[in-house]
Amino acid sequence: MEYHFKRQEINGDRVLFALSLDKKSAKERILVGSEIEITKKLWNDPDADVFYDETCPLGTLFMNYRQDETDGWTNRGFMPLWNALHTNRWNQPKLEQAAADFCTEMYQNADALSIYAAIRLWDGYLRARQPRDRDTAAEVFKFDLMRLISPLSAYPQEKLLDRDCADEIRKSSTEMKLDIWYPPKTDIECVTAYSSFLPVFLYYHKRLTEWSLYFRTCKVCGKIFLARNLKYTICSDKCRKKQNTQAKRDFDARAIENEYDHIYKNEAQRWLHYIHRMERKADYSTEQLSALKSAYEDFKREAKERKSAVKNGQSSTSEFRDWIIQQLNY
Ligand SMILES: [Zn+2]
Repeated sequence: MEYHFKRQEINGDRVLFALSLDKKSAKERILVGSEIEITKKLWNDPDADVFYDETCPLGTLFMNYRQDETDGWTNRGFMPLWNALHTNRWNQPKLEQAAADFCTEMYQNADALSIYAAIRLWDGYLRARQPRDRDTAAEVFKFDLMRLISPLSAYPQEKLLDRDCADEIRKSSTEMKLDIWYPPKTDIECVTAYSSFLPVFLYYHKRLTEWSLYFRTCKVCGKIFLARNLKYTICSDKCRKKQNTQAKRDFDARAIENEYDHIYKNEAQRWLHYIHRMERKADYSTEQLSALKSAYEDFKREAKERKSAVKNGQSSTSEFRDWIIQQLNY
């Protein structure tokens, strides 16, 4: 069922956020809907009608989480509706439209947290419009929604991925309520939350800790993944293959470098041999010897330049080898 962000009759039921984690298949399932419809879904009723029902790999909720760094939920979602509750009916539609546009945008993000927050924000506003005493209703609306949306801007993703975050949440928050449901024919429990995402995050971390799973960042592709060991740094076979190919390439490059270094050293040895042989002669000419020595220095200098050209890709090993062979003819 699609949710529409417009003035409408509120159906009496509250909209819940439901999560169930399956260790065996390493999956998370998230549902957003009224209590009755979620219940029907969990009981496999084909007529069940919820706003969201997705089964994803375990950890997806945290992996898809994006911190609301610009406070969009407060400034573009909550504030126009808050102002609409305090203004006359001629000014209301414009403010409602601004918030509806923002909620629709968030809803279409298609991540479970945004979908839930958008529906709750709009539903909370519809409820706050009903009582005659708008000021009191607005305060209730504020209290209700702020505790839901403020963690979305307060927590950066890397912090939320860290299991120590659970301790911090526990210390700082008073929102700890979570209902546990036991759907039939399965031993997978389902938790539902209404006021806040924080107990959902806590519950999730607790389960991952029990199952010895850790969030890690892949050193090849940079993706966040769940590892069975803190030492793991590569997310998949595909990345492992890539890493091996790179390692092999590095090794080959080193082998080639060793090879041309070897060619160079042999050639330098040959030069020194010439020089020593000439020095040993009783009748060597000083002129010839110094010419030979300066030619050797020229060789060393050029070899150095050519070696660095090979190293930075401007020349190749075979070109270097060919040049050395030319020197042999000296
Ligand atoms: Zn990877």
